[in-house]
Amino acid sequence: MESADVVIIGGGAVGAATAFSLTQAGVTDVVLVERGQLASGSTAKSAGGARLQFADELNIRVGLRSLRDFEGWAELIGAHVEFVPDIAFHQVGYLFLLSTEEQLATFRTALALQQSLGVPSRELTAAEAGAMVPQLDLDGIIGATFCPRDGHMSPEAVVQGYAAAAAAQGVRVRQGCEVTGIRAEGGRIHAVETAGGPIATDTVVCAAGAWSHDVGALVGVDIPVTGEPHWMFFSPENGGLADDLPLTIDFSTGFYAHREGPGVVFGGREQTIEEIAEHALRRLPVIGELPIQSEWWGYYDNSPDHNAIVGEADDVARFFFATGFSGHGFQQAPAIGEHLAERITRRPLSIEMDAFSVGRFARGEHRTERFVV
Ligand SMILES: Cc1cc2nc3c(=O)[nH]c(=O)nc-3n(C[C@H](O)[C@H](O)[C@H](O)COP(=O)(O)OP(=O)(O)OC[C@H]3O[C@@H](n4cnc5c(N)ncnc54)[C@H](O)[C@@H]3O)c2cc1C
Repeated sequence: MESADVVIIGGGAVGAATAFSLTQAGVTDVVLVERGQLASGSTAKSAGGARLQFADELNIRVGLRSLRDFEGWAELIGAHVEFVPDIAFHQVGYLFLLSTEEQLATFRTALALQQSLGVPSRELTAAEAGAMVPQLDLDGIIGATFCPRDGHMSPEAVVQGYAAAAAAQGVRVRQGCEVTGIRAEGGRIHAVETAGGPIATDTVVCAAGAWSHDVGALVGVDIPVTGEPHWMFFSPENGGLADDLPLTIDFSTGFYAHREGPGVVFGGREQTIEEIAEHALRRLPVIGELPIQSEWWGYYDNSPDHNAIVGEADDVARFFFATGFSGHGFQQAPAIGEHLAERITRRPLSIEMDAFSVGRFARGEHRTERFVV
């Protein structure tokens, strides 16, 4: 039977980042098993946004660590492979538009926290936001926040880069290979069953995104994550929206937009163009003049409090998991991958993530992230 030190289930941002981080920690006897293609789950469907503007301190720290990989991408991946996928990181900032006093107060508190951690985020007046994005209709907007280190990129290129660099160091990447079972006895894992045959191992990482509940169930571990469909729309035209348009979010409605190649992509909380258009036309009326070329959807991997679920199972030794990112899992993957690799190799943790443990729900210690887009 084939064997591996570690089997990673899921080839999205989290699985690929974990594989790469394991190689950085000297562990290369790893199999990454993906039932579709790399990034074919939520990762490639995402808006590719990365931000430091969170309300939860842990998410800000995770964001800062993750940004290090995105900002130093060419050197990080180029140290291992000749061809470095271009992640097209447009560091144009995130612009949050706020329309109630309550939102303003919450964002001011978060700004103070972000700034205390070295994040260059700042408050803007509605007029300053309008100067940044002249096409905005500012009706009802009473303030905004902006952080120039935030931005957006190509999530599938990030996955390809991590996976290629990991593979160059010995990680075996299996695509089109579903994990169908996990053999365990007495709380210890023995093997992972896949469509391509079993792999003997004592260490498994569940990085199966919105499907993590099903994967956890294979070994009797309850991971409370559910998939929530979110839609995005692409226009090949940009209506004069600037090349450096910030990723702009109307916080009340959830409508957001950013430039994508020659055009623009946008999305929101609703599932149809008719519903999202209502918010889009109100805030960014130029959207109404643009042809829509394509649309797609993917799952948010939601947790009960909209914060990640990261850790090791209580009852099954060395069954690690990371999911439940609730709309911000792509951008957190670098820090999460590093964290999992540190736990697997029993190294000191760069960032303590006990607050993301699955046990918090049973203890009634929900840790709600308020800035969910
Ligand atoms: C429209 C939209 C916009 C988003 N925008 C952003 C954003 O701007 N920024 C951000 O950070 N996040 C965003 N997200 C959220 C983000 O996409 C996810 O949180 C993130 O991609 C999760 O990564 P993952 O690697 O955990 O999961 P996934 O990318 O879903 O990867 C899990 C993989 O596991 C595989 N798998 C499942 N079961 C098995 C099995 N039994 N055997 C083998 N393989 C299996 C799946 O095929 C899948 O490829 C967005 C999501 C959507 C839908």
